Amino acid sequence: MVDPAEVADRISLVRDEILRAGGVGVQLVAVTKSFPRDAIVAAALGGCDAVGENYAQELLAKMEEGVPPVDIHFIGGLQSNKVKSIAPYVALWQSVDSMSVIHEIAKRAPGARVLLQVNTTGEQSKGGIATDDVLAFHDAALQSGLTVEGLMTIGPTEGSVSQRRDSFTILRQMVDELGLSVCSMGMSDDFVQAVECGSTMVRVGSRLFGQRLA
Ligand SMILES: *Cc1c(COP(=O)(O)O)cnc(C)c1O
Repeated sequence: MVDPAEVADRISLVRDEILRAGGVGVQLVAVTKSFPRDAIVAAALGGCDAVGENYAQELLAKMEEGVPPVDIHFIGGLQSNKVKSIAPYVALWQSVDSMSVIHEIAKRAPGARVLLQVNTTGEQSKGGIATDDVLAFHDAALQSGLTVEGLMTIGPTEGSVSQRRDSFTILRQMVDELGLSVCSMGMSDDFVQAVECGSTMVRVGSRLFGQRLA
C-alpha cells in the first residue's frame, strides 16, 4: 500500500535535506520500480519532478493501468530490443551505455533526450561507460541526433563517504568538461553527498516508498 500523504511528507523531508546540502534547483526523480502504479500517482501528487522506472515490462504494465501526466525517466539496464516498446513513454533515457542502444533510441525516438551512464567506480557489476570512453560515446550520440543533456552514475555500493565523493566528483568534472547541464547522481543512501559534490538530479526510491521487496 502506498499512502500519498506519507509519500508527500517524505518528499518534503528529502527536499529539505537537499537544500541543507546546498542543492538549489536539484531535480527529484522518484524511483518507483517494484512499487505499484499508485507510487507513480503519489510521486506526481507530491510534486516530484519525474518518476524513474527500471524495467520495460513493469513500465508497460503501469502505463496500461494509466498514470497521471508526469515525466518518466528510464533508469534501468537497457537492452536495444526493449527500446521500441517503451519509447512512447520515456521522457529522458538516463542509462544509455552502449552504441547499440544509442542507435536504437535514435531510430525509435529521433532527437530523444538522453544521459550517458558512466561507471565511476570500476565495479564490474555496475553498468555504465568506462570513463575513458565517455567522449567517444558522447560524440556518437550527438552524431546520431540524440539530445545529450548530461551524465548519470551510480555511486559505490559499499563505499566509504570518501569513495562516494570520489565517484561523484569524477562525474561532476566530466559533466563540466563536456559542457553539459545534467549531473544525475545520488540515491536514498547517498544523495546528500551527491548534492554536496554538484548533483543536479537525484534518484530516490526507498526513502520515499519504503523498502523494496524485490
Ligand atoms: C533503484 C535505483 C535507484 C533508487 O534507489 P534507492 O536506494 O531505493 O533510492 C536510483 N537509481 C537507479 C539507477 C536505481 O536502479
